[in-house]
Amino acid sequence: MSNIYFTVGPSQAYPTIDKHIQSALKEEIISLNHRGKSFTSLYQSAEERLKELLSIPTEYSVFFLSSGTEGMEKVIQNTVEKYSYHIITGTFGDRFYQTAKELGKVASSYFFNPTEGFRAADVVVPENAELIAFTHNDTSTGMQIPMSEIYAIGKQNPDALIAVDTVSSMPAVDIDYPKVDAVFFSVQKGFGMPAGHGVLIVSPRAIEKAKKLSDAGVNIGSYHNFIHLQKYAQKFQTPDTPNVLGIYLLNKILGDFLELGIHTIRQSTKDKSTMMYDFFKNTDRYSPLVSDIEIRSDTTLVVQVKGGSKDIIENLKKQGIIIGSGYGENKNDHIRIANFPAHTLDDVNHLITALKNM
Ligand SMILES: *Cc1c(COP(=O)(O)O)cnc(C)c1O
Repeated sequence: MSNIYFTVGPSQAYPTIDKHIQSALKEEIISLNHRGKSFTSLYQSAEERLKELLSIPTEYSVFFLSSGTEGMEKVIQNTVEKYSYHIITGTFGDRFYQTAKELGKVASSYFFNPTEGFRAADVVVPENAELIAFTHNDTSTGMQIPMSEIYAIGKQNPDALIAVDTVSSMPAVDIDYPKVDAVFFSVQKGFGMPAGHGVLIVSPRAIEKAKKLSDAGVNIGSYHNFIHLQKYAQKFQTPDTPNVLGIYLLNKILGDFLELGIHTIRQSTKDKSTMMYDFFKNTDRYSPLVSDIEIRSDTTLVVQVKGGSKDIIENLKKQGIIIGSGYGENKNDHIRIANFPAHTLDDVNHLITALKNM
């Protein structure tokens, strides 16, 4: 029996993945030379499809990395000489902040308690901040910062670059790219793919900054610094041997998403999250950690469970439904449920029915 994975990442495989893996084997993708014409066509196609699906301006660059976490590191190294500022809404935002400190930057932060809401007016960005780092959807808390708030903070701080971690909200999140400078995600969440592949989208302004830092003798990293990545991306290659199978599968999944249409994907995400939140609202046992609907995640729901979550998780597992436990110290108090394009309306109904019958 196959399980349904509502875990927040890795998560449910996108339904066409089987077929695409089969065709990858048939096309001998595993042995594909990453400097050859077939590979560069593949890179170009994946980049073009991504730009089309997400309405990314042509002058923005698309880089392939190994993970979402690597995205944090590359963004800090390549855009910050000294000062970064971090909006923290959970553990992943804190990871971004710690990454900056580990890289020797002077990082400061503002922490929002997910139960108390998000007020952009509370955010006073230090004047020297070179980068403002956001986690659009913090997977540990299920708090989602409205993009409009991110743009507003960006507008008030025109000299700072804006970075957005969208690892657990892509492709559902709708971004106005000219208002941001770095956006990254990995593929084992919203793309229903095997883990081990990351995507970083950067503005010309971010690349300029990396060049400026490098010229000034600042360490911007080695093979995956923006200058190397850009030099290779211009010929649709990567500095290292990349996850070629990952790029192949991404190109295929992007094709599937384009066929479905981004509007359909986003509307369906909203419909499914509304169904789940409506169910939780009418129970005594469950309450979403984030009560303010403006900042509540559509893609990774975090729900408090009266009496603990352990039995529920185990009971669902017996029925072939795998959901996530709470993050860190909330392991036994919360459940976490992913709502990605791979999760169908039927899957969500199935989950709700199982929870009702418990
Ligand atoms: C999962 C996750 C990451 C880490 O991504 P990896 O691909 O595992 O490195 C970063 N940020 C957020 C918000 C995540 O959910």
